[in-house]
Amino acid sequence: MNELKLDNMQSMIAADEVSAISSALLSEIFHGFEEAILVADTNRRLVYMNLAAERLFGYSKQQLYGKVSQILYADENDFSEQGRHRYNLASEKPTENYRILYRRSDGEIFLGVTTGTIMHSSDGAVIGFLGLIRPARSADQSLDALQKIHNVTSDLSLSYEQKIESLLTIGLNHFGLETAIMSHIEGNEYTVENCVDFNGQLKPKTQFDLEGTYCVHTLKENKTVGFHFVGKSQIQNHPCYKNFQLESYIGTPLKLDGKLYGTVNFTSSSPVDPFCKDDYILMQLLSDTFSYLLYKKISEEELEALARIDELTSLPNRRATFERLHQLIDQSNRFFKKLCVLSIDLDHFKSINDKYGHAAGDQALVEFAQIASGIGRKTDFCGRIGGEEFIFVLIGANIERAEEFGNKLRHTLALHPVKLNSEEFITITISAGVAMFDNNESIESLLARADEAMYNAKQQGRDRVMIAPPSP
Ligand code: GH3
Ligand code: MG
Ligand code: MG
Repeated sequence: MNELKLDNMQSMIAADEVSAISSALLSEIFHGFEEAILVADTNRRLVYMNLAAERLFGYSKQQLYGKVSQILYADENDFSEQGRHRYNLASEKPTENYRILYRRSDGEIFLGVTTGTIMHSSDGAVIGFLGLIRPARSADQSLDALQKIHNVTSDLSLSYEQKIESLLTIGLNHFGLETAIMSHIEGNEYTVENCVDFNGQLKPKTQFDLEGTYCVHTLKENKTVGFHFVGKSQIQNHPCYKNFQLESYIGTPLKLDGKLYGTVNFTSSSPVDPFCKDDYILMQLLSDTFSYLLYKKISEEELEALARIDELTSLPNRRATFERLHQLIDQSNRFFKKLCVLSIDLDHFKSINDKYGHAAGDQALVEFAQIASGIGRKTDFCGRIGGEEFIFVLIGANIERAEEFGNKLRHTLALHPVKLNSEEFITITISAGVAMFDNNESIESLLARADEAMYNAKQQGRDRVMIAPPSP
């Protein structure tokens, strides 16, 4: 009998190849199925759903017929992705099972194991799409979350911030909660470092007293702690409940290099079903993933910082100096701020090396860097751009102050001879050229003028500061 009906259906589809799929016929076949069945036309508009689909999604046929199936997806990216890979006119996908997060009419999100198939007419043209959906079991749901965590961590195109945000969102969808936080905790200070808040209220950098957050319990236990219905739990007097009425919470300590860094936690103002063992395992995995990403980010930042520091003197190196100079010139241009540059070259440095050895020369460079960076203002900037060549950038200084600064540096060096070994000291002298930035000139021109003034100082006998003429 059933076979006859199926034959009937196929012959009807063949007879009416491009047009609609007979919903009367479909309902005859699928009405009593336990699984939800949905059929969409080639524009992905719903043309048929059975009783189980109405129950599963909480919509009536009248509400959905003619609507694009996106309404059933929890994440519109999943909808687009399925359209690109499966549900399109050129699709050659075989019938396949896949997991997708769906959204019920009341907003609740659930994971559905879907069997998706493409409906063809007798000449092979795509005429519609059919999905058979079963709600996933909790193990499937955890597996799906694991798969998504893996996809995010292995995606090279995502930045650190994007990865953290995606992982927090995966956690929120998995637990069905509203607010996700990666926190940094120092003493009693709890800082929201990253967050995803479906209510759009919480922002990064918000601070709380640690004692006022449920995370205090997580830290006390030093492991994942969950409360699915705080109002009915032993912590109902906690200030976090009194202040924010957060009914559900699951949080795990976040460690960096074995030491406590903060927490990863998910909360909601509504109670949820009790957390299960898989949820606790997933939290640990999420926290380990955050910890790995954080460690990687900090290591990269440290390496990046190292690549900008001169190893010998610890001053910014040539690359960092020019980058900073570009930034400062940019600011000076925008805010019409004065800016002076000093090009400094140590005098007769070769003879220091020749006489006392290279190590003594190095020592002299280190001590010069200490003295030089010690006498500037906080906003001044000093970098090593070459062997015994340095640049000072004085912000807000006119040419007289810059000249005065150069002479102050000379006098300080004269008062502090460099100790080369237990008996020998040497007094370093410098030649400096000062140029004031003219808003119309390039950085190259500014530096060339400062250098020219410095060479002039060398020619005039060294140990002096010379002022560059204004730019032509
Ligand atoms: P002038 O007064 O004309 O600047 O004389 P100078 O000897 O300082 O000039 P020159 O440019 O001929 O020599 C610079 C010397 O600085 C050459 C090089 O041996 C030395 N030098 C450059 N970098 C380093 C360094 O990192 N350590 C040591 N010890 N010496 C360096
Ligand atoms: Mg030199
Ligand atoms: Mg020199």
